[in-house]
Amino acid sequence: MFKVHTFESNNAGPHILILGAVHGNEIAGTLAIQQFIQQFETKKLSLKSGKITFIPTVNEQAQLYGRRFMDENLNRVMKYHIHPDTYEKKIANQLLSYIEKADILLDLHSTHCPEDEAFAFIDYPNEKNLDFLNIVPVQTALAGWPEIYRNNTEIDNFSTEEYAHQKGTNALTVECGYHKDLKAVEIAKKTISNTLSHYGLIEKETPLLCEKKIITLSSFVVKEKAGTLQKNFKHLDPIKKNDILATYETGEKLVSPLDGFIIMPNHQAEIGAEWYYLGKEKS
Ligand SMILES: [Zn+2]
Repeated sequence: MFKVHTFESNNAGPHILILGAVHGNEIAGTLAIQQFIQQFETKKLSLKSGKITFIPTVNEQAQLYGRRFMDENLNRVMKYHIHPDTYEKKIANQLLSYIEKADILLDLHSTHCPEDEAFAFIDYPNEKNLDFLNIVPVQTALAGWPEIYRNNTEIDNFSTEEYAHQKGTNALTVECGYHKDLKAVEIAKKTISNTLSHYGLIEKETPLLCEKKIITLSSFVVKEKAGTLQKNFKHLDPIKKNDILATYETGEKLVSPLDGFIIMPNHQAEIGAEWYYLGKEKS
């Protein structure tokens, strides 16, 4: 189904799993991972300790068609399916054991707006993954994703990070920036390089530890009918309580319930899908 590349050293150390293209059209991770595979294969890089498993393209079929997914969002169905009746559920069943076996999971994604800055998801912040986060080349991380979906029975929310959390695997999801921007590939490469050197797998300068701004998600808004966002909002734009964020064609206006940030506004959201998220900086 997907191709797996494993590199093993003879020395004890962590087993790191690095995933690209869990969403088929997010190629930044794929391109960055392929460069590392090549460097290990040609011995330009050597493994000092531990083990690495690279899966450059998790959703191969979707990547082939330049699509996010074939039947459904893989990062919402990452649990075991007794009757896997979609392409993505079949992939999920195969991917789970790789996540279980790894000590550390780095899941590389990218986003759909040209001006998006890179950021990370840290679904269950703890000492281990905050230490991991500090070496990732992003300024902001989003926490609280599982909580805002907990009471929503309409939308499945089983991500790679969720499954890793259940199995005790230290995990981060990094959104490297816009899919088609070469900068996103550079961020993906830097993230891989920092991860491998931070955990002692390769001989490189230890990356600088730098604390990130953590924004806790508080809610999301589903687009219920035809309408538009109030302005050309970008991911992480600051907003004030009572700011108008969107207007439905019926005239109904949606206002911000808080002083904080608009997160991942989707100007092309379809009716029934998430339109935008809201969050506040963790104090
Ligand atoms: Zn993605």
